[in-house]
Amino acid sequence: MTDQQRRFPLPLSSVVDSGHKKAPGSSSIARPQTATQNAARHVPQPVWPVANHARPASHTPQPVVTQRASPLVSDAVRRAMVQRVAKQGVQDQLVLAALENVPRHLFMEEALASQAYIDASLPIGHHQTISQPYIVGRMIELMRNGGQLKRVLEIGTGCGYQAAVLACVAQEVYSIERIKPLHELAKVNLRPLRVPNLRLHYGDGMLGLPQAGPFDGIILAAAGLEVPQALLEQLTLGGRLVAPVGARAQHLELITRTGKTEWTRETLEDCHFVPLRAGTI
Ligand code: SAH
Repeated sequence: MTDQQRRFPLPLSSVVDSGHKKAPGSSSIARPQTATQNAARHVPQPVWPVANHARPASHTPQPVVTQRASPLVSDAVRRAMVQRVAKQGVQDQLVLAALENVPRHLFMEEALASQAYIDASLPIGHHQTISQPYIVGRMIELMRNGGQLKRVLEIGTGCGYQAAVLACVAQEVYSIERIKPLHELAKVNLRPLRVPNLRLHYGDGMLGLPQAGPFDGIILAAAGLEVPQALLEQLTLGGRLVAPVGARAQHLELITRTGKTEWTRETLEDCHFVPLRAGTI
């Protein structure tokens, strides 16, 4: 087995920039969330891309299909989604490989799973959405900037999809959700994937996670009128934060920490996210 064919679970140290470590075995890992879903869903076997060794998405080895696969959630459909994301402008091969690796349909209600690989945000309950694959890839690409990510923070776990993608490209990932049932849903969704380098927290992400920081990347999956100062303070020097900013009209903002009390700010493309809200429910 090559590095490109690694499977969950992996020790944290083997996820990023390890290059030449041994593959940890090939046990089948991905199980859907419930027995009912189990019966209906294709069970993929994600492979785990390794930073700096990712090839173009089209060269990523194909997971072995172990159960009947619906054509709507098949690996081919997921590859097609990644190709569309690449066409839309995401160029980072590691990010594209990560998108190809994570079975998005396992993060959605079964009734919506057939739409998992169209490029759209879709409802996950509690008036929240799973983000559009393009924007997930774009934000991670901007945050990574071709570099190595040691520790990253996501605000707004939702169903856990973007957190799983982040865990493919960073050594350690922390993700915070303020809605308890969604925090629990993400845990259920992620458990079968056994992502070893991901920690989920229930809390107000506007406060960040100072006890785990500083972070060399922070992504907000919900839009505020401004980026909370607490988050800017939790960036490492050179660290990059990507956030949607605005109310009805929103744009992506990329903020880089350039000094102890200095940050640079770039305004990028338009986007549309659910609102960032304070407190927990
Ligand atoms: N990351 C998700 C997208 C989730 S949608 C994905 O993988 O597709 C945005 C999420 O941000 C919602 O679940 C919402 O509850 C959450 N959110 C909004 N404000 C927050 C805050 N202050 N702290 C933590 N989560 C927050």
